[in-house]
Amino acid sequence: MRKADWKSALVWIAAFILTLAVMGWITRQESDRQLEQDAGQSAMRWSQLFTQTVSDLDTVFTTGQLTPAAREHLLRLRKVNDVFDFRLFDPSGRLLLMAEDLEKPELPVYDSIKNGIGDQALDGSKASIRKQVLGGTSYIALQREPWSGGPTVYGEVYLPVLSGGKPLGVVEVHVDQTQRAANAAQGLTRIAAIVTMLLVVIGSVATYQYVVRLRKQRKAEDKVRYLAHHDALSGAMNRASFHEALRRTAGRKSQKGTAFSLLRIDLDRFKEVNEAVGHTLGDEVLRLTTQRLKSCLREDDKVARLGGDEFAILLIGEASQNTVSPFAKRIADALAAPIDLSGHKVRCGGSIGIAIYGPDGTDPDYLMSKADQALYRAKAAGRGTFAFYDDTLDRQMQSKRELTRDLRQAIGSDQLIVFYQPQYGNDGDLLVGYEALVRWKHPTRGMVSPGEFIPLAEETGLIDEIGLWVLQKACKDASKWPSTLSVAVNLSANQFAGGRLVKQVARALQDSNLPPQRLGLEITESLLMTNSDQIMETLRQLAALGVSIAMDDFGTGYSSLAYLWRFPFDKIKIDQVFTKNLVKDPKVAVIVRSIITLAHSLDMRVNAEGVETRSQMLALQELGCNEFQGFLLGRPGPEKDLTHVGHAASRSLASPRGEVRASLFATIPMELPALRPGH
Ligand code: C2E
Ligand code: MG
Ligand code: MG
Repeated sequence: MRKADWKSALVWIAAFILTLAVMGWITRQESDRQLEQDAGQSAMRWSQLFTQTVSDLDTVFTTGQLTPAAREHLLRLRKVNDVFDFRLFDPSGRLLLMAEDLEKPELPVYDSIKNGIGDQALDGSKASIRKQVLGGTSYIALQREPWSGGPTVYGEVYLPVLSGGKPLGVVEVHVDQTQRAANAAQGLTRIAAIVTMLLVVIGSVATYQYVVRLRKQRKAEDKVRYLAHHDALSGAMNRASFHEALRRTAGRKSQKGTAFSLLRIDLDRFKEVNEAVGHTLGDEVLRLTTQRLKSCLREDDKVARLGGDEFAILLIGEASQNTVSPFAKRIADALAAPIDLSGHKVRCGGSIGIAIYGPDGTDPDYLMSKADQALYRAKAAGRGTFAFYDDTLDRQMQSKRELTRDLRQAIGSDQLIVFYQPQYGNDGDLLVGYEALVRWKHPTRGMVSPGEFIPLAEETGLIDEIGLWVLQKACKDASKWPSTLSVAVNLSANQFAGGRLVKQVARALQDSNLPPQRLGLEITESLLMTNSDQIMETLRQLAALGVSIAMDDFGTGYSSLAYLWRFPFDKIKIDQVFTKNLVKDPKVAVIVRSIITLAHSLDMRVNAEGVETRSQMLALQELGCNEFQGFLLGRPGPEKDLTHVGHAASRSLASPRGEVRASLFATIPMELPALRPGH
């Protein structure tokens, strides 16, 4: 039992004893009252006998003397009805006669009678009793002081003696109550025993129930306390208590010098596993992960599940990369091991970010964010591994934050500009349109490349606004160009997510009055890797508007042919990396030729990006490429500089095609298929 339980048990026992004592006292009072009543009745009966049998009471109560007959009667009356003693007083309280006087040969005459002093045989209090008795009210008191040589308990009763309604005096009668008191005490003891037994039984039952209730309550309290500090699913510490432990450990470090490291862990593929095996088994994965983490640590170390598939560890006593690394490695290995889920074998793996108390910071929240940043790094490094916090990360993040803030402000201002890069068809002789490429003229950094700010805009969701603006601007600009020229706009995967893209494109066309055939949309393979069914549907709706759809940067992603099969792209844009290596590496030429053949077989045109040299241009022409785009033909430039001159490409192609063709194809070890120029 706990201290509090002992206390309440003592209180119960004290209350029990007190109840018994109070009951005893009440019963004793009642019994005494009964004894007094009995004594009073006995005395009353005796007094009646006295007044009825003793004649000449007037003389007795004036002189205290008795006739022989009266003396005879009184001698007989002396011990009747348990009366063992009596005394007679005159109305003034003077003692006239005592029972023991009857045995003396001569009745004494008391001094008070002789001297006529009233009330002196009675002490002060008894004088008032006498007055009360003469007034007609009897007085009874139970005495437990033993009478010398007589009973141990007796009633002392004062009664008035009346003659014709007139008080003659007072008789004091002593009634022996020893036997009755003993009987009462015996009864009382029996009752007390029964009551005690009953109380003991009731008390025991109540105590038992109390203890049972207390235990249940304690259990519930313990559970509540446990849940307040632990994660119900895994049994690891929860976020709140982990923060508390982190705070305490960090506080302790500053006093005693206990070193520690903070590890943040994220399961790499929990989401997929959870979806594959269902939530019940997913929970089991989290429980097993907790066990694995604990098995890699020592007793003092703390493991917490912060929520979802996020865990954290306080590695006590380790504060250097050298000593923490073996732990981190062990944890990464443990998490990488397959988990057996009643037949299913799944692998989650985990990434670990580590911050060391001291070098990486001392404030618990700060340290937590550092471990978070390290985790981000571990994930970026390919997952299933661990990374320590590195302050260059901090600087990168800071610069990223600043750039995001600036980009937000740039939208709607004239910092964002659309450049247009020409695209040529018909063996590079004919200008067919332009690709719209956004530019950011940062007030202090100068031109920021889209390669830098587009990923940032995608990460922060700003791309929706930027993309829409480019689309509207490109349509508006193109509507002013010759009707043979089209415009190509790049779309990010995020723009497909909102479900508003089709409407936005339709609206941009409508607002600018640009015929849909003059708008091309460029998407990348990464878009199709996400949720292809929904994306495909959006692409179909876009195509239904009449705009053309091109697969940009083809060959750099997964290059899944399934994408080409599932959606009828109008155009494939071969990534510039192929163009760059085309004349350097014959294998690239084989690949490019295959792509072009494939595209043509599927009725798709081919655009080659990044054409920088004449030899690249000639090789591409020879391979049957339909469109050309690159610095050789024209760099991206502002709208105002566009001349729309249709035959720019032929100007740059100074050397005869045959020479280049011969030098290129001499290195290709297989027959080129029949190409369909101008497709
Ligand atoms: P992209 O769509 O593949 O655009 C072609 C990129 O290649 C452009 O880079 C262009 O300037 C560059 N380029 C063209 N010819 C040559 C060449 O001969 N040599 C070399 N080395 N590069 C050449 P830029 O403008 O820096 O754009 C980079 C990427 O940013 C684009 O690649 C596109 O994916 C993205 N991007 C640009 N504007 C937008 C936009 O408005 N929306 C979206 N979502 N993405 C955009
Ligand atoms: Mg593009
Ligand atoms: Mg491209």
